[in-house]
Amino acid sequence: MTIQINKATLIDRFMRYVQVDTQSDPESTSFPTTEKQKDLSRLLVKELKAMGIADSELDEHGYIYATIPGNSPKKNIPAICFCSHVDTAPDCSGENVKPILHKNYDGKDIILPDDQSQVLTTVKSPYLKNHLGSDIITASGNTLLGADDKSGVAIIMQAAQYLLDNDEVKHGEIKIVFTPDEEVGKGVAKIDMEKVGAQFGYTLDGGEAGSLEDESFSADGASIIIHGVIAHPGYAKGKLVNALKIAGEVLAALPADEWSPETTEKRQGFVHPVSLSGIAEKTTIGFILRDYTREGLVSHHVRLKKIAEEVVAKHAGAAMEYVPAEQYRNMKEVLDKHPEVVANAAEAIKRSGLKVIQENIRGGTDGSRLSYMGLPCPNIFTGMQNIHSKQEWIGVNDMMKSAETLVNLAMIWEEKAEE
Ligand SMILES: [Zn+2]
Repeated sequence: MTIQINKATLIDRFMRYVQVDTQSDPESTSFPTTEKQKDLSRLLVKELKAMGIADSELDEHGYIYATIPGNSPKKNIPAICFCSHVDTAPDCSGENVKPILHKNYDGKDIILPDDQSQVLTTVKSPYLKNHLGSDIITASGNTLLGADDKSGVAIIMQAAQYLLDNDEVKHGEIKIVFTPDEEVGKGVAKIDMEKVGAQFGYTLDGGEAGSLEDESFSADGASIIIHGVIAHPGYAKGKLVNALKIAGEVLAALPADEWSPETTEKRQGFVHPVSLSGIAEKTTIGFILRDYTREGLVSHHVRLKKIAEEVVAKHAGAAMEYVPAEQYRNMKEVLDKHPEVVANAAEAIKRSGLKVIQENIRGGTDGSRLSYMGLPCPNIFTGMQNIHSKQEWIGVNDMMKSAETLVNLAMIWEEKAEE
């Protein structure tokens, strides 16, 4: 069976969604962190309802939940969920995005019109060569594009439209969830798992066509709080112990040639100081720790704490506290218990005519957190490239293939279910 995704509609959708400013804000304490994210969400609910998805709703926190009812006579098909995020990254402006459709891309450099210093080239972005002769979409130079993750949103909407228009395609119940605030690490903070109502999920938030990410970092934070001894600086001889200086020594004692983001790749973990604040009396250093295994993460804690303790011990009167904080865990631990989730996605990618690229993410996704909230949830490609930057772009063919993959995935879960 050939799955014909409507290209013009998909392009239209994507171009429409990226023009709505949905930038999230890491400094905000409200939820969602920016009200404007709901501008897109309201539009999406309207479109879902127009498609015939009657139960679509936007809740007060900015989450959309919607259900495509199953149409198969089989009764035991697990409900699956397709999920993407509506917000865009705070790293780069998302205001007044002007998407540009470059038809039949010819391989030449693309100078973005609103800032001519922004040039897309096949040298810097070799993946552009995969799209020679087909259509790509860029921003105009002053903003990001927002393919991360409005490509995921457009792909899920298009796949939903396809399933609703083609009743001969049999599937179980399909849940659609659009979340706010993923880019500021709060994407699932107020999610209602009852409303999600699925057994297994897929985030649409990955890059290259065919890629399927089933492994993320396991992540912790840690604060090292250094207590000095304060005294009037005029009369401090032999008394004052400066916490700021000790913090400097702790940072200097970290290895320079390993164990950091700037010296590691692939499956290596790291420890990374991310903040420093304080006064002479008390200084706090914030760290993030990353690894693929729990044991690895534990060993990073032990090593970091020991380095700091050795430094602090050289200063009589100084003291320190080490406060670890759990962030998220490698989704693979959960996915390995439900191998059919990744296997079905791999099969769907193959049926869509692509080679499966199974990868680990050097980061986390909403899927990492969802997997531990009871929804095993790998990440599927959308095609997005150069994300969080003015040179963000996406190939239309990749979005088409991603939508096709979702339709195949719905069918595969139905085929594999018992009568
Ligand atoms: Zn994303």
